[in-house]
Amino acid sequence: MILPLNKPYLSGNELYYIEDALKEAHISGNGKYTKKCHGYFKDKYGFKKTLLTTSCTDALEMCAILLDIKNDDEVILPSFTFVSTALAFYRQGAKLVFADCRRDFPSIDESKIEDLITPKTKAIVVVHYAGISCNMDMIMKVAEKYNLFVIEDAAQSFNSFYKTRPLGGIGHLGCMSFHETKNIQCGEGGMLIINDNRFVERSEIIWEKGTNRAKFFRGEINKYGWVDTGSSFLPSELNAAFLFAQLEMSEIIQDKRLKIWNKYFNEFKKLKLPDFDLPLIPEYASQNGHLFYIVLKNKVRQQKLINFLREKDIYAAFHYLPLHQSEFYKKRHDGRKLNYCDKFSDCLVRLPLFFELTDKQQSYIISTVVDFFKTEKR
Ligand SMILES: *Cc1c(COP(=O)(O)O)cnc(C)c1O
Repeated sequence: MILPLNKPYLSGNELYYIEDALKEAHISGNGKYTKKCHGYFKDKYGFKKTLLTTSCTDALEMCAILLDIKNDDEVILPSFTFVSTALAFYRQGAKLVFADCRRDFPSIDESKIEDLITPKTKAIVVVHYAGISCNMDMIMKVAEKYNLFVIEDAAQSFNSFYKTRPLGGIGHLGCMSFHETKNIQCGEGGMLIINDNRFVERSEIIWEKGTNRAKFFRGEINKYGWVDTGSSFLPSELNAAFLFAQLEMSEIIQDKRLKIWNKYFNEFKKLKLPDFDLPLIPEYASQNGHLFYIVLKNKVRQQKLINFLREKDIYAAFHYLPLHQSEFYKKRHDGRKLNYCDKFSDCLVRLPLFFELTDKQQSYIISTVVDFFKTEKR
């Protein structure tokens, strides 16, 4: 049997809630289940204002519009990330200023951000890689000093924390993903988290095609119309119903994922293999078992391990092709070398992690990795 890298999990009530949404005869956006999801995040995480979107990519688009990103603005962001982190800001005309990773960790090097700030800098976008928090106090402090906005790409960070604070709830704006590859999913889905009150009213308008329709439905105005830019960012109730079923089961999902993550970590640690590094969890971060990775010594080893596992029906993968090296952006990049970003791209290997991975299957993966280091010449 093939062990995939990821496999979406169905919690059981998805169809039941979708059927209920059909009975409500309201399956476009912003109905009962969208409100239930918003309520869930308010009650459980204290997020004052959230808006479900059709993807995290869309939530990031909303951020670029809300911040009025324009030609000549500069946005600082990691290169070691998925393309969505950059896309919206690029399209609004911003120059992307890529920051390197930390030496010991694949997220943005917080201590290097200040050097990249110019009078044109408008925002810092951070990504909590693997749902493991960046040092948010450091980031918010430098943003405050230069009067910049902070956006958290918390796509991978459902139920992850910085100290006691849930990720996505710390920057001025936060974005989460419910894509099928994430811990909690609805196929395609996402959410904007609005932490700065100045953005609340406008975010609703942008969400509903540039109209003040949300206000109208709350009875605050007696007709609605076109008042700003925007798009159709809200998902249908079918997606929201699916998502709500997942949210209700999220503690069970999270427990299982963390159990798998911890088994990888503890077993590899016990073995004391000198051939790779284990993930670093800073003391301020509590993570969510989104993905498990190891860091090998070089690209040759990385490719050899991935191929070795593939021959044994285990699908492992690298991460990411750095954005500053991408076909699209490399000719636009300012040419700075991002050594640690390249290192993680060359050396990181992700191992299968999904709800239905059995203990036996996981033991097989671990022993196969160990076999590789025993049999392959250095
Ligand atoms: C998955 C992911 C996204 C994109 O999420 P979508 O919901 O598919 O748009 C963006 N950023 C990061 C870091 C991701 O992991």
